[in-house]
Amino acid sequence: MSLTAAAERSGACRGNAEPPPVGARREFAKMHPLRLTVESPPRRTDADAMTTNADEIHRLRWQKFPVLDDGFVTLVDAMGDDQGVVQAARVSYGEGTRAVSTDRGLIRYLMRHRHTTPFEMVEIKLLVRVPMDTWRQWIRHRSANVNEYSTRYSLAIDATQRTPPEAWRSQAATNRQGSGEPLPRELGEKLTAAEAEFQSAARKLYEQRIELGVAREQARKDLPLSTYTEAYWKIDLHNLLHFLALRMDSHAQWEIRSYATTIGEQIVRPLFPLVWEAFVDYRLQGTFLTRLDCQVIRRLQEVLAQSGRTRATLGDFLTVQDPSWVDIVRCRERDECQAKLVRLGLLPDVAVEPSEGD
Ligand SMILES: Cc1cc2nc3c(=O)[nH]c(=O)nc-3n(C[C@H](O)[C@H](O)[C@H](O)COP(=O)(O)OP(=O)(O)OC[C@H]3O[C@@H](n4cnc5c(N)ncnc54)[C@H](O)[C@@H]3O)c2cc1C
Repeated sequence: MSLTAAAERSGACRGNAEPPPVGARREFAKMHPLRLTVESPPRRTDADAMTTNADEIHRLRWQKFPVLDDGFVTLVDAMGDDQGVVQAARVSYGEGTRAVSTDRGLIRYLMRHRHTTPFEMVEIKLLVRVPMDTWRQWIRHRSANVNEYSTRYSLAIDATQRTPPEAWRSQAATNRQGSGEPLPRELGEKLTAAEAEFQSAARKLYEQRIELGVAREQARKDLPLSTYTEAYWKIDLHNLLHFLALRMDSHAQWEIRSYATTIGEQIVRPLFPLVWEAFVDYRLQGTFLTRLDCQVIRRLQEVLAQSGRTRATLGDFLTVQDPSWVDIVRCRERDECQAKLVRLGLLPDVAVEPSEGD
């Protein structure tokens, strides 16, 4: 039985947990050194005062957000909201937070200055269904707690990720780790047919082994990486945002990017609207400038001021590039700097080759 089926059978799909009664909170507050914060959360008088996300959790729980052809992500539970981040920060800063007047302002300050622990006070738990090759990338994020469907104990899930004819991608010409243009549909049709044949043969072999009495833990060894697995994945908000920043990025593989984008847009955004807004502003759509980048920009401005022009050219950029880049024919750091300057509107938008991942 898959994890989804098990969860459905156990009746896990119930409403969000009720908060503890006021009396219990008071008892706790008496015993606890942080009682002032527990008993009297900071008063919110600002325009962007927050409400609890209990309704949103209730709306989202066990909703399946489809990803790829047969995968999904679903929210199992969440602990905390925007207010949970603010509350943790106000505990750690105490009086210091008076300087930051609004909850929104405080969240944005924390995000900008990478004061990360308040975000760790909030957690979410997902149930995900992911092909093994994508899961292999996903599981590299060590900061989550994982409980995965066991193919030693149970039969492997009978579902494989299939690629439609129009979705086969060529190898990127400049980035050894990425994809390039889509392959012609005619070729895609052949690839899709061959894939179906292979996946079906692999499953048949697996089932034959099971019928012949081979242990499940051994019978599975030739199942393809396209086989779906399921897992509970619990992570705090700080590490989830780190995961999203890496895996929603254009350098991440399209498949895991699809999962990360679904988690971000469909679950994190509605549950933590102020955190999400700050994350988009400062991480997802922000640009990090290195010391070298800043110097290039400064020199570029000087060149423009001296020449009386308003628009820099690629030639100007190459003139003011960092001296350590000059002799390197294919310099990733120069490419990345150029891409940032294009993004900032300081250089014309000529094609910049993507750099390789790690
Ligand atoms: C585009 C891209 C390409 C990649 N290519 C490759 C590749 O070719 N080969 C490959 O092997 N991997 C590759 N990876 C995986 C990558 O190197 C990381 O393993 C993965 O992204 C997890 O990141 P993380 O360690 O920051 O996250 P997490 O494991 O979630 O950790 C979060 C943070 O916690 C801290 N942390 C966690 N555990 C430890 C620890 N044990 N010690 C110290 N600090 C810790 C670190 O600060 C870390 O950044 C790639 C990732 C991306 C996004």
